[in-house]
Amino acid sequence: MSGNKPLKSITIPVSTFENVMKQFDQAAEKLHIDQGLLEFIKYPRRSTTVKLPVKMDDGTFKMFTGYRVQHSIVRGPGKGGIRFHPDVNLDEVQALAAWMTWKCAVVDIPFGGAKGGIECDPTTLSEGELERLTRRYTASLLDVFGPEKDIPAPDVHTNEKTMAWIMDTFSMHVQHTETAVVTGKPVVIGGSRGRREATGRGVVITVREAMKHLSIDPTGATAAVQGFGNVGSVAAQLLQKMGVRVTHVCDVYGGLYNPEGIDIDALIAHTAETGKITGFGGAAECAQDEILYAPVDVLVPAALENQITAQNAADVRARIVAEGANGPVTPDADPILREGGVFVIPDILCNAGGVTVSYFEWVQDRIGYFWTEDDVNDRLEKFMTRAFGEVLQVALDNDTHLRMAAFMKAIQRVVDVVKVRGIYA
Ligand code: NAD
Repeated sequence: MSGNKPLKSITIPVSTFENVMKQFDQAAEKLHIDQGLLEFIKYPRRSTTVKLPVKMDDGTFKMFTGYRVQHSIVRGPGKGGIRFHPDVNLDEVQALAAWMTWKCAVVDIPFGGAKGGIECDPTTLSEGELERLTRRYTASLLDVFGPEKDIPAPDVHTNEKTMAWIMDTFSMHVQHTETAVVTGKPVVIGGSRGRREATGRGVVITVREAMKHLSIDPTGATAAVQGFGNVGSVAAQLLQKMGVRVTHVCDVYGGLYNPEGIDIDALIAHTAETGKITGFGGAAECAQDEILYAPVDVLVPAALENQITAQNAADVRARIVAEGANGPVTPDADPILREGGVFVIPDILCNAGGVTVSYFEWVQDRIGYFWTEDDVNDRLEKFMTRAFGEVLQVALDNDTHLRMAAFMKAIQRVVDVVKVRGIYA
């Protein structure tokens, strides 16, 4: 949440929710499922908008708008992060909630999909203002949240501290400590070891599996990473550990380039100190856009959605696009990438490591017994490699691409559960 320049979006004005609906429709068509059943699982079950008055440091009150969308609770409680960003809106939150449903189903964890957000620029708010905003948001959604109902987690510009505030506020209202109401908490209050790194770790596991499938040797391969927050920085670090040279990185403030490979550990230290990647001595500065078009083996978009569109997809030169972010490639860009021979690891598979370890965290909270980091990482490895293998198999069996296969697998899993439960109508 550091930085001193107000956040400015470079996202293109498209409906992200329409994008996820298109992805759903394309896969659903292949599954020949009853239309009424499809409509039941396609649309969000509950969308809540809350008005949030917050006392600012100067004594004035300011109004903010927050959202929480539960897309599905068919397979278990709603699960999904909370985003603080000026561009947050209901359309985006609904899309992100839907992706969570399919993501949880792809990795086969017993959760539905949800997402939340507050329209705000967190970089211009003090810590006290952020805390009051988060607590007011939580109090306004007490009837929505709960370990059996809907479990938030961090997303863009929220972190462990935000989760601690949510957990504490919820616990104060229910009059007992309820650790399992959020995941991505600090370890000392029931967080899971390995959760912070889990999304980036999962991204890199799927990249490794894709490289195996495509017979690319990681040693000597190159990568570019867009976004250097939780997901991007850990993905870059683990790619480097795997022998991949990370030559390009960018964040909201600018881009970096070093053909020899950027020292990611040093860049993480620099970012921790300054809040941005720019000003780092170990690489030349470059335009942010260069990251998307870098001639690398692996491109990891790990910032925001709608970054690769029909307008710029033909310029992507990576062999693998690993969607660390949710929805970085629009549906009309997908076929252009495929024509260019780009292998896309879809978000609902690629970045599912975070929610998988969130599931582990929720399990640990509920049994009150905590695993070692190695234990968490081993289990994550199993879940991610199994999911990648299953999705790849569906792709091969149906002669289709990984995104279609991932949606097919996920939709089928949700449909199977609905069929067993029946619809209470
Ligand atoms: P974060 O806030 O920690 O980091 C976001 C990064 O993106 C920052 O470095 C920021 O500077 C950069 N950024 C923002 N706008 C940009 C722009 N226009 N151009 C270039 N860089 C830009 O967020 P995060 O948790 O790392 O999430 C990143 C993405 O991954 C989001 O799409 C999120 O939904 C998705 N995701 C996150 C998790 C998780 O566990 N954190 C899990 C699954 C998916």
